Amino acid sequence: MKCPFCHFNDSSVLESRDSEDGQVTRRRRECGECSKRFTSYERVEGPQLLVVKKNGGREQFDLEKVRRGVTRACEKRPVASDLIDEVVDQVEQEMLKKTSSEVTSRLIGNAILRRLKKIDKVAYVRFASVYLDFNEIDDFVQLVRDIK
Ligand SMILES: [Zn+2]
Repeated sequence: MKCPFCHFNDSSVLESRDSEDGQVTRRRRECGECSKRFTSYERVEGPQLLVVKKNGGREQFDLEKVRRGVTRACEKRPVASDLIDEVVDQVEQEMLKKTSSEVTSRLIGNAILRRLKKIDKVAYVRFASVYLDFNEIDDFVQLVRDIK
């Protein structure tokens, strides 16, 4: 598997762990070139989940998109990458538990917000400001007031 840091094409597996429900195997890997560590996931391809977006369009549920959003919100914050993995995992599990084959982007956003709020307030406000699409400074002030 390709190293996300230096893009070297070979890495070794340090540790493999199945999730509690046995649906996902998480592997810690080490790059053969730069020795940095990263995580990969292996999962059974399950039923397809569609996301209904704000504009009414639909798209495939994309876990990487969730991960990017969370990672961006946590940039330069003291949040361990393992914790980010955990948030992404939990959000996915929560979405897969829905009986419907469609979820709204709002539902996903809220699931992320709920978790970020407990982990890091700055990351929470960052994510909220992008996700809730604030137009007014008042919205922002209100949100910050709420978490204080
Ligand atoms: Zn590397």
